[in-house]
Amino acid sequence: TGPTGTGARPPARLTVLAGPTAVGKGTVAADIRERFPDIWISVSATTRKPRPNEVHGVHYLFVSDAEFDRMVEAGELLEWAVVHKAARYGTPRQPVLDKLGTGRPALLEIDLQGARQVRETMPEAQFVFLAPPSWDELVRRLVGRGTETAEERERRLETAVLELAAEKEFDVTIVNASVREAADQLVKLIRSPSISGKS
Ligand code: 5GP
Repeated sequence: TGPTGTGARPPARLTVLAGPTAVGKGTVAADIRERFPDIWISVSATTRKPRPNEVHGVHYLFVSDAEFDRMVEAGELLEWAVVHKAARYGTPRQPVLDKLGTGRPALLEIDLQGARQVRETMPEAQFVFLAPPSWDELVRRLVGRGTETAEERERRLETAVLELAAEKEFDVTIVNASVREAADQLVKLIRSPSISGKS
């Protein structure tokens, strides 16, 4: 139903990757960043503190609460959410619009609340759910990462239960059994946006 007449190039597509906490969205995004540097991935703003090895401007824009407030009030964010009741995360709008305007696809790696907001404002986007191979595996990954306190882990598990139920809201599911294979599948979807049949 889209402008896909003979010779017409399909419009650049926004792809939104979401899924439960610790399912490996960030790892899949990092693998794409490394192996497919031509695919543009949005850099989110966050009020969370950087982890070791995280670089401002590469993994996130680490901003103060005041700066995040300013971005929200100025309408600079395409979506934003409080994640794990801990920090705010949001997608700067203009870089996404600029990228789509050049005819190149764009990828957002965000949480479920953010994905729902993007569905409201940009329903033509393609929504991809990254699922764990099993619940046990998700818990193992969450504990194994070891970057959170016990209290934080508990909060993230509670969130994950709700997030797993959201799969049905998405256009496509990718099971993250192997990071490389999940990244390859996602790249295919990003490059062949008509595959989900939406427009
Ligand atoms: P982390 O703190 O582990 O890097 O990320 C925590 C969660 O925040 C992940 O589920 C990640 O997808 C989500 N997140 C990262 N950036 C954004 C964003 O711009 N918007 C929203 N809504 N969630 C985000």
